[in-house]
Amino acid sequence: MTATEITAASAAPADRPALGREPLLEIRGLTVDYGEGPGAVHAVDNVDITLHRSETLGLAGESGSGKSTLAHAVTRLLRPPGAITGGQVLYHRRAKEGAAAGGHVSAPVDVLAMNRAELRAFRWEEIAIVFQSAMNALNPVHNVVAQISDTLRAHRPGITKAECRERAAQLLTTVGVPAARMRAYPHELSGGMRQRVMIAMALALDPDVLVLDEPTTALDVVVQRDVLAELVRLREEFGFAVLFITHDLSLLLEVADRVAIMYAGRLVESAPAYEIYHDPQHPYTKGLVGSFPPLRGPRRELTGIGGSPPDLRSLPPGCAFSPRCGHAFDRCTRDVPLLRVPPDDPERLVACHLDDPNGSADDNP
Ligand code: SF4
Repeated sequence: MTATEITAASAAPADRPALGREPLLEIRGLTVDYGEGPGAVHAVDNVDITLHRSETLGLAGESGSGKSTLAHAVTRLLRPPGAITGGQVLYHRRAKEGAAAGGHVSAPVDVLAMNRAELRAFRWEEIAIVFQSAMNALNPVHNVVAQISDTLRAHRPGITKAECRERAAQLLTTVGVPAARMRAYPHELSGGMRQRVMIAMALALDPDVLVLDEPTTALDVVVQRDVLAELVRLREEFGFAVLFITHDLSLLLEVADRVAIMYAGRLVESAPAYEIYHDPQHPYTKGLVGSFPPLRGPRRELTGIGGSPPDLRSLPPGCAFSPRCGHAFDRCTRDVPLLRVPPDDPERLVACHLDDPNGSADDNP
C-alpha cells in the first residue's frame, strides 16, 4: 500500500471494512492519579473504552489530556508518582493454538490484578507497545538482531540462536527493513528505520493488541506516511487490534475505525472515524476537526480552539471545557457532563449537556 492509499476518513461507511465486534480489551472506570489525598490530580478520570478484536481505535486529545497515561496504565508501565486508583482492564484472551480457526475465548483476565510473572508473559506475547521515540526505546549498545533475540528468548526459552536470526530477518523484512541491516546499531539507522525496528520487535510474538503511543510524531511527514501505510498493511495481514494514541486527529481519521476523544483526563466523545470527521457532536471535537484543512472536497474555514487546556490541579466546576466552549450555558459550570448514547446514534458516546434529553427545560440554553 502506498501512502496515498490511506484514505479512510473520506470513504463512505459502506466502503469501510466490516469489523468484528468481539471485545478484546475492556477498560472500565480506569482512574489514574498523580499524588495522594485531596491534592491528587486525576490524570485519567473514570474512563471506559472497549477495543474490539482486529479494530484500530484512535485516542486523540491535546497534550495533558491523559491519553499517554492511559496507555501506560493499560500496559502496567506507569511509574510513580502515577498510580492506578480505580477501574479494571479486562483482557479477553484467546488460545493461540486455536486462533487460526477462530480460537477459544476464555473468561477475561484483569490486567490490573496480574502478578509480575503474569505481566511478563502478558507483555509482548499478548500486548505490545511502540513508543514515540525509538532512539530512547532501543538499547544503543546492542545491535538490532540482539534486541529482537532478547525479546524472543525471554518468552521462548528453548529458541536457538539460528532461529532467532531467522525470525529477526523475517520480522525486519515484514516491516520493510532489509534483513542485512540486522547487525546495525540504532544510531546507524534512520528515524523511520528505527521506528520500523520497534514495530518489528512489537510483532515478534504475534500479539493480539498493539499500543502505538505517538509512533510517528518524531518522524518527518513523508516517513510518517510510509510508516503509517506499513502499519495499516500489517494490521490487515496479521489481524491484531491497535490502540493508536496521538494528538494529531487528522492522522487518526485516516487510519482508525473508531476514534475516542479525551479532554482533561476524561473521555468526551467516541464514534466511528467517519462520523467524528463528518458529524462531530462535542464542541471540543468540533474544534479539533476544525483545526486542520481537509485534503479533499471543498475548502472550509479553520476555526481552531481558543485558550489552553486546563490545569488538572484546579479544574473548573462542571464541564472542564466550559472556559473554552462557545456553547457553554448555566448547567455547564455546575454539573459534570456524563457520557451518554444519543437516542438516534447508538454507535456514539458524547459527554455534553447540549441536546441532552435528560436535562430540564431550565437547563437548556
Ligand atoms: Fe460546552 Fe457545556 Fe457541552 Fe461542556 S457541556 S462542551 S461547556 S456545551
